[in-house]
Amino acid sequence: MKLKICHLYGNLMNTYGDNGNLLMLKHHCKLKGIEVETTIISIGDKFNYHEFDLIMFGGGQDYEQKIVALDMQSKKDQLIKFINSGGVVLGICGGFQLLGHYYINNKGEKIQGISAIDYYTINQENNRYVGDVEIYNEEFDETYLGYENHSGRTFLGEGVAPLGKVVKGFGNNSEDYTEGCHYKNVFCSYFHGPLLVKNQHLADRIIDLAIDYHYKKIY
Ligand code: GLN
Repeated sequence: MKLKICHLYGNLMNTYGDNGNLLMLKHHCKLKGIEVETTIISIGDKFNYHEFDLIMFGGGQDYEQKIVALDMQSKKDQLIKFINSGGVVLGICGGFQLLGHYYINNKGEKIQGISAIDYYTINQENNRYVGDVEIYNEEFDETYLGYENHSGRTFLGEGVAPLGKVVKGFGNNSEDYTEGCHYKNVFCSYFHGPLLVKNQHLADRIIDLAIDYHYKKIY
């Protein structure tokens, strides 16, 4: 088999080495003897959800996020179909934010997300959440370590699970001890640096789910 990865806006959303997640996914696939094909889908490109098994959507600065958010509206239906049919997504920071309802940036501008998952992100004045993070995922009984750097404060809707409970650091908003989100086969996080290098057990889980999805799909 060949695992098909969509690197969503990979030429625009790739701050703080988020692309390293892709290298880790490729490395783990190699260890499992699986071939990988990566395609950047960006501004003006068509995204057909049945063409991919996994989406990697990295973080970005407010400037890039604004451009991407506009273009994403034309891909919204297909992206939601992908997620609802069990497609696997890894969303980091800015990518995480844009899968939700909206992101209010530092200038107070409201950047529309695609509302694929129930959460929203607001700004804070003259402050960023920066530093090491540790979270614990109860469902998998796993700990994830990382580094965060974001100004957005994300609040999950009822029934949306976090990727983990904050043990150390700020997490989504420094209030409710949530970090990231886990919804269907979507894994989102504020961890940069990149997430999967420090948490290889998560890389393995994501690939296994993508392999499952690949075989379950009806073409
Ligand atoms: N611009 C967003 C924020 O600061 C996302 C930043 C990022 O992806 N690192 O919250």
